[in-house]
This record gives sequence, C-alpha cells and structure tokens, in this order.
Amino acid sequence: MNPASKSLKSHLKVLLRRAAIQKRVVAVARQISRDFRGERVHLIGVLKGACIFLSDLIREIDLDTSIDFMAVASYGKGKQSSGQVRLYKDLDTSIEGLNVILVEDILDTGLTLSYLCRVLQQRKPKALRIAALLDKPSRRVQNIKADYVGFTIPNEFVVGYGLDYDEHYRNLKDVCVLTLPAE
Ligand code: 5GP
Repeated sequence: MNPASKSLKSHLKVLLRRAAIQKRVVAVARQISRDFRGERVHLIGVLKGACIFLSDLIREIDLDTSIDFMAVASYGKGKQSSGQVRLYKDLDTSIEGLNVILVEDILDTGLTLSYLCRVLQQRKPKALRIAALLDKPSRRVQNIKADYVGFTIPNEFVVGYGLDYDEHYRNLKDVCVLTLPAE
C-alpha cells in the first residue's frame, strides 16, 4: 500500500461488511423477482454511486431485465448536499409501459429521488419502484420511501461499494463511515 492510499484509509470504520451486503442484495433481488414474476423489469441506475449495487442486483434477479442510466449531481465535491439536483445524463430509451426500478445507492434527504420520480412518472411507466441500498430516514426532507431497502443506517457519511468522497473510495468492498481529521 503506498503512503497516499494508507492515509486515505485511516479515517474509515466498517459499517457494513461485504458478506452482509451480498446477502441483502440477494434478498432484495428475490423480492423483486417475486413481485414482478413473469414480467420484464427495466433497471435505471443513478450514476455514479449506484453502479456497483446495480451490477450485483441485476445478476440476482430471475426475470427478463434491461438497464439504462441517469446521471445527477446534488453533492458536488464535499460531504454536504447542495440541495439542488441537476440532470447530467438522461435515459437512452423510452420507459413508457415498462416496469421501472430506479436503483440508487442511498436515500438521504430524498431530494434526488423525488426529483427523478417526478421526471420519470411523466414518461408513463407501467410501474415505478425505488430500490435503495442504504436509507438514512433521519435526514429526510421530502416525503419519499424506497420500495426495496438494503439497510437502514444512522446519520453518518458513508463511502464504499460505489459511494464516494470526492471520487475516492468507490472501490471499497465494505460500506464504511468516513470521518475526516477536522471533525
Ligand atoms: P438525497 O438527494 O437523498 O439527499 O441524496 C442522494 C445522494 O446524495 C446520493 O445518491 C449520494 O450521492 C449522496 N449521499 C447522501 N448521503 C451520502 C453519504 O452518506 N455518503 C455518500 N458518499 N454520498 C451520500
């Protein structure tokens, strides 16, 4: 490990281990497979944070599936949300008449998902569901709930398994709490 990556890891505390995450992802995928038995589901990943969750989730879903992505930004560079959601990348194809599952890394204030749900509902999907790996209900400002939740977590800033801090840590296999020296 070089000195830079050592210091990157020194402020991390494991919150959810890889094995526990894998187990929950399988359980969520089974639930989705049951709920949409015999139908196709169209997974929409919210870039970039949801890419790893979506990759693991889709391989455990026992249905006909398809994928698309949207990219939004609400956090900018630091740990604080700007409170404003901007759409950077829209879908490649229409979702009219499809069973859409919006796949997100974490449901925090709810601003991002309420914005995306508003945008997607206007496009007339057959069904629109939310799958969030993590849920921080204590931070909610918008009245929105995920249909499928991996883990409910306390109000901590977490990284790993796709979640970043200034683009670092997405490759961690565990979900970890990040504390910076000034805190
Ligand atoms: P919301 O709009 O619900 O406040 O936030 C959703 C987005 O904020 C997530 O997709 C994620 O990018 C970011 N976010 C919220 N909480 C955390 C966190 O604890 N860690 C990281 N890395 N990102 C977070």
